[in-house]
Amino acid sequence: MSTDRRGFLKTAGGVMVAANVLGVSPLVGSAMAATESAEKKGAGALTEHVLPPLPYPFDALEPYIDAKTMEIHHDKHHAAYVKGLNTAEAALAKARAENDFAMIEYWSKKAAFNGGGHFLHSMFWKVMAPKGQGGGEPKGKLAELIERDFGSFAAFKAHFSAAAKNVEGAGWALLHYRPEDGRLIVLQAENQHKLSPWGTTPILGIDVWEHAYYLKYQNNRGEYVDQWWNVVNWKQVAENLKALGGI
Ligand code: MN
Repeated sequence: MSTDRRGFLKTAGGVMVAANVLGVSPLVGSAMAATESAEKKGAGALTEHVLPPLPYPFDALEPYIDAKTMEIHHDKHHAAYVKGLNTAEAALAKARAENDFAMIEYWSKKAAFNGGGHFLHSMFWKVMAPKGQGGGEPKGKLAELIERDFGSFAAFKAHFSAAAKNVEGAGWALLHYRPEDGRLIVLQAENQHKLSPWGTTPILGIDVWEHAYYLKYQNNRGEYVDQWWNVVNWKQVAENLKALGGI
């Protein structure tokens, strides 16, 4: 190994320490530069993940979810997951290019956490809709499948609500489609990515991190969950299921 090579690795190590101390945002510029160099060295192609626009105005889900919560949640929290995912994937590519896996556990965890956050929030915005379009009950084939797999819509709603209200700490309640047997199941997720049995994909979810409801509901997560049903976009949930071949 040449002196130049050692010097470069030392600098790269410094960047990773900065990521630990300061959070992901300040690292993005350096990580993107590192990406280009990693690609040149044959570490593989990278996806540039992008924050999707909110499909309605910040105040569209009032009075159930307030505009300020939506603005911070989308523009700050979701944006941070997108940045964090890009940063983690760039760092992993750099590790491959340099054959230096000293930080593999750290960046692997960051990739899962931020990747889960990006995926779930991208779904979350779409499975909610303003007054007049959201709420009520599903129709057609989705309604039939919910009745088949949970007994009734009321039983599904009780199951899903209990899952949401009882997530330990920050997380989600999720309705998943499982292609193996073509059925719907309800699961909890801790943080953005834990408790998955694999082989299933969420088609509906509620974010029960405090950042999703605290400005309006404070510590009353149960009330937030109960009110959230008023904004569920069942048409989109059916589309999500269709896209997976479930309908
Ligand atoms: Mn969130």
